[in-house]
Amino acid sequence: MTSARGAALVDLHTHTVASDGADRPAELVAAAAAAGVGVLAVTDHDTVAGVAEARAAGRRLGVEVLTGCELTASVGDRVVHVLLYAEGLLEPDLAEGVEVARRGRHERNLAIGERLERLTGVGYGDAVEAAGASTLSRAHFAKALMARGVVADVAEAFDRYLSSGRPGYVPAPSVPVTDAVALAAKAGGVAVLAHPGRLAEAERDRVLGEALEAGIDGIEVWHSQHDAGLRWSLAELAERRGVLATGGSDYHGRHKPAVQLGTGLDGNAAVLTGCLDALRGRLASEGPAA
Ligand code: AMP
Ligand code: MN
Ligand code: MN
Ligand code: MN
Repeated sequence: MTSARGAALVDLHTHTVASDGADRPAELVAAAAAAGVGVLAVTDHDTVAGVAEARAAGRRLGVEVLTGCELTASVGDRVVHVLLYAEGLLEPDLAEGVEVARRGRHERNLAIGERLERLTGVGYGDAVEAAGASTLSRAHFAKALMARGVVADVAEAFDRYLSSGRPGYVPAPSVPVTDAVALAAKAGGVAVLAHPGRLAEAERDRVLGEALEAGIDGIEVWHSQHDAGLRWSLAELAERRGVLATGGSDYHGRHKPAVQLGTGLDGNAAVLTGCLDALRGRLASEGPAA
């Protein structure tokens, strides 16, 4: 068997069917090995449920798998995503802490279903069917609305019903960014603000400032949705503020088919080796902090 250990690529942001990715954890690791990724962090939304299977596959295939997750968090009234990296997250009480926002998601999905059912006749059960093995999200409500002919495409589903401010919208539950930072510290690891490029430019600096104020340990610089200018300015900010610069593709398998493991889109998610070394320097070698 060929080994990916020593392979050049690093990917610190990926999803499996434990959240809204398309690949089972072992499939993700096999795809990473095939793509030349030697170090892979599994970062499902609000859960570490896919990590154990990924680590076992990593041992077989020679891919180093780091334990992570992507928490749904809030900075003031903005919902943001915060990547946690820490082996200690696998401890049962900390894994439980990661699941807080996820449990609230079920209530949220029921509430979205109720609203849509009233508005369109398409409800929770239709979205569950559209989701198949994936974790339910607004994307599946959009798919169900499309399948039933209520809208022509996903964009229309979001524009008319599912985006913030539209009649089917219910905000996602989130944990305050300070709690995300504390959870990472307790687990012996770090919290990194994910893809700041998704924030509207007008509020990006404010949210970054508040996240840094809250003690965030790093900024995701290399990401499939970040252009060269943004990557440069985020790297400069991380250096100036003395926090980690990380990156990853945000791979979701066939749910986002253009995004490649290890490189993102046209190489925009490729992580510099020195940044991996800096991250490693901040991860406790064993378990959570006392
Ligand atoms: P949720 O996590 O339930 O809020 O849903 C997020 C999902 O909806 C992700 O898969 C997004 O890619 C998708 N999504 C959010 N906004 C839009 C939009 N305007 N058009 C298409 N997909 C969207
Ligand atoms: Mn996702
Ligand atoms: Mn995200
Ligand atoms: Mn992600």
